[in-house]
Amino acid sequence: MSSRAKEANTNLDRRDFLKSAAVGCAALALPGCATAGTASAGKVVVVGGGFGGATAAKYIRMWSEGRIDVTLVEPNAEFISCPMSNLVIGGSKDLSFVTASYANLPSRHGVKMIRDTAAAVDADKRVVKLASGTELAYDRLIVSPGIDFMWDQVPGLDNAGAQEKILHAWKAGPQTVALRRQLEAMPDGGICAVVIPVAPYRCLPSPYERACQVAWYFRRSKPKSKVLILDGNGDVTSEGPLFKKAWNEEYKGIVEYRPNYVLTDVDVATKTAQFEVQEPVQADVLNVLPPQRAGAIARAAGVVTANDRWCEVDFLTFESVKVKNIHILGDAIQIAPGMPKSGHIANQHAKVCAAAVVALLSGRPPNPAPVLANTCYSMITDNQSVHVSSVHQWDREQKTVLPVPGAGGVSSAMSELEGFHALAWAKNIWADTLA
Ligand SMILES: Cc1cc2nc3c(=O)[nH]c(=O)nc-3n(C[C@H](O)[C@H](O)[C@H](O)COP(=O)(O)OP(=O)(O)OC[C@H]3O[C@@H](n4cnc5c(N)ncnc54)[C@H](O)[C@@H]3O)c2cc1C
Repeated sequence: MSSRAKEANTNLDRRDFLKSAAVGCAALALPGCATAGTASAGKVVVVGGGFGGATAAKYIRMWSEGRIDVTLVEPNAEFISCPMSNLVIGGSKDLSFVTASYANLPSRHGVKMIRDTAAAVDADKRVVKLASGTELAYDRLIVSPGIDFMWDQVPGLDNAGAQEKILHAWKAGPQTVALRRQLEAMPDGGICAVVIPVAPYRCLPSPYERACQVAWYFRRSKPKSKVLILDGNGDVTSEGPLFKKAWNEEYKGIVEYRPNYVLTDVDVATKTAQFEVQEPVQADVLNVLPPQRAGAIARAAGVVTANDRWCEVDFLTFESVKVKNIHILGDAIQIAPGMPKSGHIANQHAKVCAAAVVALLSGRPPNPAPVLANTCYSMITDNQSVHVSSVHQWDREQKTVLPVPGAGGVSSAMSELEGFHALAWAKNIWADTLA
């Protein structure tokens, strides 16, 4: 039998199984019938328990009514959110505010969680190998590893010692707290420089949000200090007029914005950033966001296809364009035109992918016209925010998702009401991912 015929046959068997399981449950009205004591309708392994992976794991369990086995591999004990982590750096929140438990995924949704790191993928055998040596077989593999940093582009930072001194805090966790400590230790009158890479990078507006949060702290506690934004891009990459207004009014004299600062290296001993064209800049606190690419496991799985950095996917299923049965979500993908790299859109990738995987493992075609939405809030002070939002719809002719003209937009001005909505957004997306 050809492999295609075998796959069709397997899907048919699963479809028949799902039907008979549903009839059996309805007839016997057994509580928990869908999850207990029945054969599996398929095995899904999810690598990475962030915004993309945790959401996909939960929704596959929910939408398959417990009939698909889902194993989530994640090295961290707890979920720590990058969204709102700039408030920890500004000092109005602490790390516990952006930290949440994974406990509901196994207890409420039956996701099997393994605290480990995926080290390799054998796509022919459909097996993921973990750092501990465990091997997990899959029918479908979902990879949502977020980003890794291209340290080779900043040679002075290409060692562990340097990376402990010059922080990125672009993965929330210990570095978030360490950057806050550096700001606290800085004398009043000092300079904090935020160095931004050339786009694309994780979450376009967030470096500017960070500058606002550092400025908020300086205004209250170190009023002679300054924030320098050294941007590798030619202009502010998102919500430009809103951020510039904040720097010219709210934080006048505290924030200075400089475009076209393309980083070439860092001298760690003197905390000096070096640039392609511009003069070097020395700072008391140097916060460098290095260039980024898909997390290392994507490379190991052979799904990195764009510029040796990102993974191209079929937006109907989020399956790799190169390797069958491997789906990629979140920051690791080569985004569609106008699509951000954000937690919100990773959550939307996860839902399109989860629905497609449940359909495919049940012998049904995936939704032929998915729609995704995104909103990114940026906190300007401790309680005032602005936002940018967009809607992205499958375009049959161009075979990609495109922004829907006229949908979405940006705030007219920062406000406390937007700040209230921002915190509500965060609590809702954390619950949608983990509760
Ligand atoms: C300061 C800051 C502020 C932000 N603010 C916002 C915001 O307001 N709104 C918004 O929508 N987005 C925001 N973002 C962006 C958002 O955090 C990311 O876009 C989002 O986290 C992407 O989700 P992901 O699943 O791709 O990656 P992540 O959420 O980073 O998850 C990746 C997970 O994979 C795990 N992992 C990696 N490799 C392996 C492996 N080999 N084996 C097992 N597990 C692995 C990691 O431990 C991690 O838990 C912000 C980002 C930053 C840095």
